[in-house]
Amino acid sequence: MKTKDAPVTKAYDVERIRAQFPILRELVHGKPLVYFDNAATSQKPRRVIKTESAYYATINANVHRGVHTLSTRATEAQEAAREIVRRHINAQHAHEVIFTSGTTASINLAATSLGQLLLRKGDEVVISGMEHHSNIVPWQLACERYGAKLKVIPITDSGEWETGPQGRKDAKGSTEQFFNERTRILAISHVSNTLGTINPVKKLIAQAKKQGIITVVDGAQAIAHLDVDVQDLDCDLYAFSGHKAYAPTGTGVLYGREELLERMPPWQGGGEMIETVTLEKSTWAKLPFKFEAGTPHIAGIIGLGEALRWMEDYDFAFAKDSAEQGKSAFAAHEHMLLERATKELLTIDGLRIIGTAKEKVGVISFVIEDVHHYDIGTLLDQQGIAVRTGHHCTQPLMDRFGVSGTTRASFACFNTCAEVDALVAGVKKTLKMLR
Ligand code: PMP
Repeated sequence: MKTKDAPVTKAYDVERIRAQFPILRELVHGKPLVYFDNAATSQKPRRVIKTESAYYATINANVHRGVHTLSTRATEAQEAAREIVRRHINAQHAHEVIFTSGTTASINLAATSLGQLLLRKGDEVVISGMEHHSNIVPWQLACERYGAKLKVIPITDSGEWETGPQGRKDAKGSTEQFFNERTRILAISHVSNTLGTINPVKKLIAQAKKQGIITVVDGAQAIAHLDVDVQDLDCDLYAFSGHKAYAPTGTGVLYGREELLERMPPWQGGGEMIETVTLEKSTWAKLPFKFEAGTPHIAGIIGLGEALRWMEDYDFAFAKDSAEQGKSAFAAHEHMLLERATKELLTIDGLRIIGTAKEKVGVISFVIEDVHHYDIGTLLDQQGIAVRTGHHCTQPLMDRFGVSGTTRASFACFNTCAEVDALVAGVKKTLKMLR
């Protein structure tokens, strides 16, 4: 039962979590691994690794094809994973869950198919200035193909959308409208991979919907940290990758509202996605298979289902005992690490944090005066600390902040306060060596 007086951190047993990640026992340059690159890809718990390898050892067969026993087992296991995803994101129907190879594939599917369905010359697609290249380039390609225009919501100094209730004020004080009668699609990230900002997507989606605009959410950085509920968000499409949420690489999802998916044309042709084929014409399979051409990453998909179940088991088990009723215990733990890292890193001379929004997940990007991020990353690695350096596939955002790149630490449920302290000490040591 939930108790009122036990803080999340008291109930949270990080050592119990860590024990489930075999990779955390690895040494890097003779030092214990401190893994702070979870926004790039998270590590995998043993249950997920075992599930994936058990598929190859005991089930391996193609899905939806054979009448033989293994094929039936593989199909059942894959479709069970679809149901787990449906439940996890609270989609209405399992056939609204399309398996892809990741967020990039999901957004390319969305942009290609929606482009064909919706975009005509002079139409507009709205994105924001903090998007990952995966949520920029596919829309640029679609706009180019159909003669549409890409409009961009600017970013404030703290790393938030500069929208206001209706749009921002321009230099003359009049409100710039991001949505107009030619806007067809809004494509925005739920959480920024570079800044950590949690965007008020629900609010913007509601505004867009009033004007009949189709909404697409890049949830790559949200799925492991927020309670994603696609019906509550009321988005049309929602994309995420499995590998950022403790699941195998090469797995991902595009959720879509049934009615919209029915209208969208397929984006890839091949086996599995057809109902009938003649040499003159083909017809399409029903949802979700219309969008799943070819043999999927069956082992990975089953692993994705197990990863979500693992998250639910542990996250909710801790949350159940916590004071923060209904909140993710993982998220609360990561937020505590974020606050500690922010406070301590800011004591370092010349260090500036890029991304200071009020609502953030456990992602901290920083630059240090006269020091190249690449040098920081390399010297931290020598100390066993894995961080990300560079533009994080957000070059327009780097331009906005006038930097060539940042050093980014991103936290997961298995990280500890001691590791945060090691990072801070590591940065200080690095600066001593470089300065
Ligand atoms: N969008 C965001 C916000 C991301 O952080 C990433 C991965 N860094 C992607 C899209 C692309 O994800 P993937 O490489 O798994 O397709």
